[in-house]
Amino acid sequence: MCGICGVKLYRNENAFEKACAILHEQRHRGTTSTGMAYFNDGHLTITKDTISPENFKGKHLKTGNIVIGHNRMPSVGASTIQNAHPFFACDGSFALLHNGSEHTGILRDLMVSLGHKFEGETDSEVICHAIEEFAKKMDLKDAILKVFDDCRFTTLLILTKEGEIYGIGENSYIIRDENGIYIASEIASFLPLFKGKRKQVYHSDDSLFKISKDGKLLFLGKFTKEKKTISEEKDEYEDDKEDGGFYLGGRHFFGKKKKEPDMEDEDVEAELDRVEAEHALKKGEFCVCVNSETDYGSTICNKCKRFVEDLMDECEEEII
Ligand SMILES: [Zn+2]
Repeated sequence: MCGICGVKLYRNENAFEKACAILHEQRHRGTTSTGMAYFNDGHLTITKDTISPENFKGKHLKTGNIVIGHNRMPSVGASTIQNAHPFFACDGSFALLHNGSEHTGILRDLMVSLGHKFEGETDSEVICHAIEEFAKKMDLKDAILKVFDDCRFTTLLILTKEGEIYGIGENSYIIRDENGIYIASEIASFLPLFKGKRKQVYHSDDSLFKISKDGKLLFLGKFTKEKKTISEEKDEYEDDKEDGGFYLGGRHFFGKKKKEPDMEDEDVEAELDRVEAEHALKKGEFCVCVNSETDYGSTICNKCKRFVEDLMDECEEEII
């Protein structure tokens, strides 16, 4: 078992402390090594050490508004710096971290024969180079899905040199607010960031998700969203669980509406959904829904119709 986390802040603020707080909260998932890949000033960089998240914070705190992080409990390979996550693709196009255990012996031999350079002995590093190899012939998302198809006991996060985050696997939960997007292995891991607050938690399971460079949260395939009070009580408030099956897209917060001081979290969520729908509609990339029972026009699913109706009420021009 290991822990994974990701923090993408919309403004140029430092994501490291938040990432360290998540990793420390999920320290029961491993403390033999801690590592971060981060994006700042146009450069993708990795820092890692054979220490706990708590000690890492004191020794390796960097700056960057996009970070993915990992705390390790070894399953394949000893507790060494060579086996600490994240790992770079040989061509530097992305950094990868992984939670899971896979049989990758033959795949490793194949990657070595193709010239990929390995630092340590982990299955995670094999997965990293396999995705890199496939990505030479297809989109990165398709390369991830291709490797994941054979590695079903995997949760992984990738940070690209363009500043995009990709993730897949059941041990990843996502929360977003007006400041950014946050990923952790468990809902309770968000405790230091959102203690006592009721938040919408996204879970993609076996679907790929992506956080684009401009801050959109996108799901390729099915996901769930569930209202949760972030507390030690892990199963509180499961009443609002909702299945999704479409892309969520189109959010910019740069210059967009900010949270009002007296605004409840649920109001913020509703506002985020509305802003998202509005932006996506303007760009003509409204959700590609696979669960729609009733079409609205030819492109907009029934699930999103209520947002569109809200927009129509506000809009003086005809927008569809
Ligand atoms: Zn490689």
